[in-house]
Amino acid sequence: MAKVLVINCGSSSLKYQLIDMDHESVLAKGLCERIGIEGSKLTHNPAGKPSYEKECDMKDHRVAVEMVLAALQDPEHGVIEHADEISAIGHRVLHGGTVYSDSIVVDADVKRVIRECFDLGPLHNPANLIGIEACEAAMPGKPNVAVFDTAFGMSMPEKAYMYAIPHEYYEKYGIRRYGFHGTSHKFVSGEAIRYANLDPEKAKVIVCHLGNGSSVSASIGGKCVDTSMGLTPLEGLIMGTRSGDLDPAVVQFICNKEGIDVNEMLNILNKKSGFLGMTNGLSSDNRDVSQAAKDGNPLAKVAIEAAHYRTAKYIGAYTAAMNGVDAIVFTAGIGENDADTRIGVCQYLGYLGVELDAEKVKVRGERMVISTPNSKVKVMVIPTNEELAIARETKEIVGC
Ligand code: AMP
Repeated sequence: MAKVLVINCGSSSLKYQLIDMDHESVLAKGLCERIGIEGSKLTHNPAGKPSYEKECDMKDHRVAVEMVLAALQDPEHGVIEHADEISAIGHRVLHGGTVYSDSIVVDADVKRVIRECFDLGPLHNPANLIGIEACEAAMPGKPNVAVFDTAFGMSMPEKAYMYAIPHEYYEKYGIRRYGFHGTSHKFVSGEAIRYANLDPEKAKVIVCHLGNGSSVSASIGGKCVDTSMGLTPLEGLIMGTRSGDLDPAVVQFICNKEGIDVNEMLNILNKKSGFLGMTNGLSSDNRDVSQAAKDGNPLAKVAIEAAHYRTAKYIGAYTAAMNGVDAIVFTAGIGENDADTRIGVCQYLGYLGVELDAEKVKVRGERMVISTPNSKVKVMVIPTNEELAIARETKEIVGC
């Protein structure tokens, strides 16, 4: 029975899932928090058994991986008898630069590229590499697979990924659009094609991954042709705390007026903008902002309307880019749960012949076609599952 351990490392955290690939079922999942900080803690949720928490010193990610392995093999809370039962480890890695358009078994070259991309993913890539090295140390000889969040975007044509700035910056620094949430977009577009019986070679699919971070992708036959995030996840839709698209002159203007530097301004655009900024700090959470809008808060109303409007504009742009669309899919926290968002976005799509089913549109967290049989475009909800997507890629590449 193939079992794949999926690891998603942040700078002080490590999320994991052990997945039984024969049934694609989660055997256990959990989280190590505050790694390298006082008060570190492991939360372990084994399937069918009570979850447990353990406060313990985790001075680095290597110790965290050892704690995870101990929890997985624990006589009481464990789900395996021996770490040897783990066939391979799949790692979420943020940035693979222009080098990797697919997942790959980690070797010295792969680690070098992940390191070379530290500049492009300064918060995530160093942590991702630490996670890989921690697993190599704790489970010598086991294959580690890197699954890049940027890989899906690598099939974009030049006309979609080049910025209209002096070419030397692309040559010198790789400044281009990469796209993120790739693992989710690839998984959801693939699932949508299968679920709705679309042509796997030709289906034109737009996926709206709407969560705290949000992005839209356009794909033909499961290959990405455009996506809304750019060099970094800041470009594109209005998000929880990110501004999305913006005239770059705004940066200079505010820096000059407020006496702040570009780094501070970018921090504002990443962490204090989007829903949070538009509502004057009320909340970055879609539920809070939509409730406030319903209660009559005018800033919240504009924030929600603007988010729907911008998503609809991307759908329109991508429909033009692909000269048509067969399916529009909603996923992630907002897309999977919030009927108001789906209705708010689709109200702009009447010209495409989109017609929502008034009952089905209310579905929460389940896959469902939410358009009517007459609708010219199929509209769907497909829950994303990045861990399963990473585990599938890992299994396929390792052949376990
Ligand atoms: P994610 O980043 O994918 O976990 O998504 C987080 C976002 O999903 C937050 O903005 C939540 O407010 C939103 N969300 C989660 N559940 C619901 C729900 N039932 N209704 C509306 N929004 C939701």
